[in-house]
Amino acid sequence: MPSDVCAAPKLLSFDQAVERIHSLVSPVQQTEKVAIEDAIGRICASPVLSPVYVPPADNSAMDGFAFVHPGDVDVTTVSFELIGESFAGHPFAGTVQPGQSVRIMTGGLVPDGCDTVLMQEDCAVNDGKITINRLPKPGNSIRCRGEDINLGSEVVAKGKIINAVDIGLLSSLGVSHVEVTRQVKVAVLASGDELKSPGEPLASGEIYESNRISIATMLTKLGCEVLDLGIIPDDPKALTDAFSKANQECDIVISSGGVSVGEADYTKQVLDDIGEIDFYKIAMKPGKPFACGKLSDSVFFGLPGNPVSALVTFMQLAVPGIETMQGKSKQKRIGFWAEATSNLRKSIGRRDFQRGIYEFSETGLPKVTSTGAQGSGILTSLAKANCFIVLAAEQSSVKAGESVWVEPFPAWLN
Ligand code: AMP
Ligand code: MG
Repeated sequence: MPSDVCAAPKLLSFDQAVERIHSLVSPVQQTEKVAIEDAIGRICASPVLSPVYVPPADNSAMDGFAFVHPGDVDVTTVSFELIGESFAGHPFAGTVQPGQSVRIMTGGLVPDGCDTVLMQEDCAVNDGKITINRLPKPGNSIRCRGEDINLGSEVVAKGKIINAVDIGLLSSLGVSHVEVTRQVKVAVLASGDELKSPGEPLASGEIYESNRISIATMLTKLGCEVLDLGIIPDDPKALTDAFSKANQECDIVISSGGVSVGEADYTKQVLDDIGEIDFYKIAMKPGKPFACGKLSDSVFFGLPGNPVSALVTFMQLAVPGIETMQGKSKQKRIGFWAEATSNLRKSIGRRDFQRGIYEFSETGLPKVTSTGAQGSGILTSLAKANCFIVLAAEQSSVKAGESVWVEPFPAWLN
């Protein structure tokens, strides 16, 4: 078995790290009222109870005829006098007596007195009378008041991420505004003397920065407000200033780079000086160095600088914390077992988040293919992927044909 040099015994397990993060953050308390058209992706702050019945009154499920059911009658053919009509938006005004019927359209209000509707295909109309050969059961083809939603019943739960269907549902109930949690504000910075932004010329030894924009984009998709603090040089004073500003203005501070133990890795040292690091190393790959803790008014996630490590630790560790702070109901990890199409190299000791492409065979069986070289700086290994292949810490290498646990990328990545 190949040994993993990074698999030191003191590393926190991935599950312990997630637990620690949940205990570090608490949901924001402030809420605000927003118009439903602005509520997409926001988090419902208090349960929405229906102010109405849906449907609001008994109405017809069919185009047909409404009448009073005559009960058990001993004849094969029953006739009703046709006395009026009830169309959607134009109800019949009177009361229907036994032996009478009303032409009714889908959505038309069931007239007073009527308890049954029969679709027009099963009726014959002649000389102001309708004739039917087989009586339906009482209550046939009637959508009853409140059968979809009862008055006062919960339609959107606290903690639910409001989606386009919820917005339509609220509109159907006449609800124009909804109470949501205020947006979580997150500061993002990249640290490193070698980092430049696209558009700037590169000197020898410099590279284009990529973590900040990916993370800021994901944060926006997650419904956060983002404060971009830019690229900060490897300088303790500059880092201290940036973290202090972020701490003053934001709920969460996310940095990338400078958390290893190199000569120019000041992020961890600065976080240690001005805040409290809760934990630092995690038994996961990629992403072992990950500093997490508190400043006076915020929580920080110090991501590693390598692009894959930065994005994977953001997705796997920072996001659960952000979602807890947003007040989202706990998101379940969604995955399934899939057949590995090739061997996967894995050392015992850390939980691996390898990058893969899953698909389903013609017979519906899931298969997953590695995106290739899995180095923590190879961003294309993540860009080509549509899922993580999650391999347990105690797992060793996988042989082609074995089953592995696959977790599709979340919708907010797109
Ligand atoms: P560090 O964690 O600062 O030691 O960085 C590890 C590696 O990631 C180095 O090769 C850095 O140049 C690279 N790196 C650090 N930050 C970024 C970033 N924001 N974008 C792209 N690469 C980065
Ligand atoms: Mg660095």
